[in-house]
Amino acid sequence: MLEIQNLYFSYKRKQPLFEDFSLSLPDGCIVGLLGKNGAGKTTLLNIVSGLLPPQAGKIAVNGFTPFERKPAFLADVSLIAEEFSLPQVSIAAYTSALQPLYPKFDGAKLDKILAEFELSRANRLHKLSHGQRKKFLIAFALASNCRLLILDEPTNGLDIPSKSQFRKILVSSITDEQTVLISTHQVRDIENIIDSIAVLDNGRAVFADTLENLSRRFRFELADTLPTNALYAEKSIGGQRVILPNDADSEETEIDLELFFNFITNKTYE
Ligand code: ATP
Repeated sequence: MLEIQNLYFSYKRKQPLFEDFSLSLPDGCIVGLLGKNGAGKTTLLNIVSGLLPPQAGKIAVNGFTPFERKPAFLADVSLIAEEFSLPQVSIAAYTSALQPLYPKFDGAKLDKILAEFELSRANRLHKLSHGQRKKFLIAFALASNCRLLILDEPTNGLDIPSKSQFRKILVSSITDEQTVLISTHQVRDIENIIDSIAVLDNGRAVFADTLENLSRRFRFELADTLPTNALYAEKSIGGQRVILPNDADSEETEIDLELFFNFITNKTYE
């Protein structure tokens, strides 16, 4: 459903951000898009949602070329940008103006999620806090029932209870046909809800796979001394957090996503 082949993209007067970048994501997955500051996550999400044109390469999202911005494409993609501005109107007015753009929009679902976030259609957007406005955008995006949801740093600005509320609401609101692409550096905020990761580094997708395959291939342990076959290790209280190759007969261990991210971005991974 999302296929990127040999993408090239460069901002004016800058080094290319993506050169020969490829990534393929199937339908119905929740993907964590990870990368250091400036790795290009927001740029990639803008390209995928049709806001920026690729300068070379092919992109297909739900069978469409995003930058052609066909109405049928835009009706099935919902993006929550990291930075946003909203009009000075009530949630009710915003919803009745924009809901017609999304044929699968579910008003009852919007009301339910708004209530869980302690918001209502009567709230005026400019009188809400940043975190409350973010919650409204999350509720609106989920109620749109789009096949592709793109969330750029969705937990930024949410307080601690709201982060876990966000996770619960997201998981209970989406169907198997929907794909969710979540960019974040707050790995802990999303590690229990994603089923795949894509890691960007130096203009490439350096790792993209399901968590199921990841735990089949790697073991995560706390060791007193460094095992000779360790692929990566970091000192920690009580020993060393290590990544080891997993063999087919061994039991799978719980993934330490933060450690895995450091492993992937600190060394060339083949
Ligand atoms: P962060 O994690 O800090 O949000 P990111 O991975 O989302 O970063 P981008 O925002 O896509 O990264 O930025 C990637 C690179 O492109 C950065 O070096 C940034 O300075 C540059 N960049 C982003 N937007 C523009 C722009 N409009 N014009 C020029 N350069 C830009």
